[in-house]
Amino acid sequence: MTDKEKKISLPVFGHPKPPWYQDGLHFECTQCGNCCSGGPGYVWVTDADIHNIAGFLNISIEAFARRYLRQLPGGISLTERSNYDCTFLDRSGGKSECKIYPVRPMQCRTWPFWKQNIQSAESWQKAARRCPGMRSNHGPRYSAEHIDRCAEDPESP
Ligand code: SF4
Ligand code: SF4
Repeated sequence: MTDKEKKISLPVFGHPKPPWYQDGLHFECTQCGNCCSGGPGYVWVTDADIHNIAGFLNISIEAFARRYLRQLPGGISLTERSNYDCTFLDRSGGKSECKIYPVRPMQCRTWPFWKQNIQSAESWQKAARRCPGMRSNHGPRYSAEHIDRCAEDPESP
């Protein structure tokens, strides 16, 4: 038998299993502030985030960096206060609001559809213990496609 006559066996691909969140997930932020506070943490920022936030605050990139950014081995993060609140968390007025909400970093924008939260229903429920917005059954329902985009490519939710 020549090489040409050899039978070629193609790999058999099954249909990928739909994700457990195939019907989408409800989420509605209650502005409790839990995800912007608590223990020490990092709010990573991209170049685009830095540019957008500095523009929103109407200050130069340099002034923004001096006041609100810290360089860490893993990247550049927003600073936090001594109680570990994010530097942009505003607790005045009885609620916890983000002072830069329209231009908040992509990391904040893609919450709670992070890879580690959507791995399984259990990981979603675990994260939801600290995030009441993830326990909402009435808030907007985000499609599986949107969730995947947030988890796979945090640059484009
Ligand atoms: S923990 Fe959840 S509900 Fe609370 S502020 Fe963050 S996203 Fe909103
Ligand atoms: S930037 Fe806004 S949404 Fe992100 S952690 Fe800080 S206060 Fe929260």
